Amino acid sequence: MDTGESAADETTHANDADDARLYVPDTDGWKAVIKHDSEKQYCYQKRPGEDFFHLILNGEIYLISGDEKLCLQCAVRRGVATHDRLFWQHRVKRIRNAPM
Ligand SMILES: [Zn+2]
Repeated sequence: MDTGESAADETTHANDADDARLYVPDTDGWKAVIKHDSEKQYCYQKRPGEDFFHLILNGEIYLISGDEKLCLQCAVRRGVATHDRLFWQHRVKRIRNAPM
């Protein structure tokens, strides 16, 4: 097909667990940041079953949008980030019409 990537669909999924790459499908307003100061920062999302906000550690990569900070684990759980390299194939098309 057009990019060659579509043919790798199934194999890419099989390797998801080994693939540490993350993607932010909706890039609007989100930035990836590495925490590198000693100021205490907390993820804005609580983990299921926990009633406190957990600490973002120095050196940890997290996502930020405005005042909202998300650790990568919570970002994935909330759907802000995904391990799915082919997310762009799985969402509703807008703007561009990808050739089938
Ligand atoms: Zn978190």
